[in-house]
Amino acid sequence: MRQAIGIDIGGTNVAVGLVDELGRVKAQRSMAMDQKLAPLAMLDKIEAIANSLLEQVGIDRRDLSGIGIGAPGPLDAYAGIITCPPNLPNWRQVPIVAELGRRFEVPVALANDANAATLGEKWVGAAQANKHFVCMTIGTGIGAGIFVNGKLLQGATGNAAEVGHMMLNPNTEGICACGQKGCFEWHASGTAIARKASALLGQTVSAREVFDLYLSRQPTVVPLVEETFQYIGAACVTLINLLDPEKIIIGGGVAEVGEPMFAVVRDYVSKYALNPAGHQVSIVPAGLRTNAGIIGAASLILCDEPVLAT
Ligand SMILES: [Zn+2]
Repeated sequence: MRQAIGIDIGGTNVAVGLVDELGRVKAQRSMAMDQKLAPLAMLDKIEAIANSLLEQVGIDRRDLSGIGIGAPGPLDAYAGIITCPPNLPNWRQVPIVAELGRRFEVPVALANDANAATLGEKWVGAAQANKHFVCMTIGTGIGAGIFVNGKLLQGATGNAAEVGHMMLNPNTEGICACGQKGCFEWHASGTAIARKASALLGQTVSAREVFDLYLSRQPTVVPLVEETFQYIGAACVTLINLLDPEKIIIGGGVAEVGEPMFAVVRDYVSKYALNPAGHQVSIVPAGLRTNAGIIGAASLILCDEPVLAT
């Protein structure tokens, strides 16, 4: 059976797993991302974890089909370089594909984390039967991947589908990390929910605490959260009008609130999608939750879609 290492690199955590060709995680370990460490020293630690997983399962590294990496963008998926991600300030022009290829002598592939998650959903998650879909992750930020005609939409430089920076409302206080006012991410990410609720309540609260207050119908928080769900609905309508998908998958910490969010988003879409068929677009939670980052990264090597060919 084919097996690959999946590496999910994030601003706070790095997860490494050994995944088989059916998408099952055979072994995995994660560690904190040490932002003070040089990237090559961090890769030493990742290599050591990968070796320990191979040893644990009894696989020789020469029998690996390859290594897939999901990492924060912007990056150059075609050249295999992590270029300038805002949440990894030390990682500048890191040729991670060449570096791990040299160390393991197996094929290595790189994608941004949102695209890797989207491939994972196509491979063994909620989009296995779909050719046209969007997979959005709403957490600290908002990322997405887009499938059109059965292929991942990558764009000229592999940085397509940055839906978090679609502008939804220019008449907004504050400026998004990208420099614009009123981006989708500025209004609807977990960070945005925590920021807005903290200002309203006069104390610092996390997004999770905001949702707990929402579920107990706290009167200040309810309209704020419902407005956030409307923004998610509006973003879905824009994506439906642009792309005509069969399905929109929503994962990440904000989607963990579950049905209250999905109900508002479905209602918004059923009213405002331009094409009547768009009213019926299926809006569903992600199929992969635990280990989604590792499985998505491994899918770069193990799924049958030749989506990353340049
Ligand atoms: Zn922005």
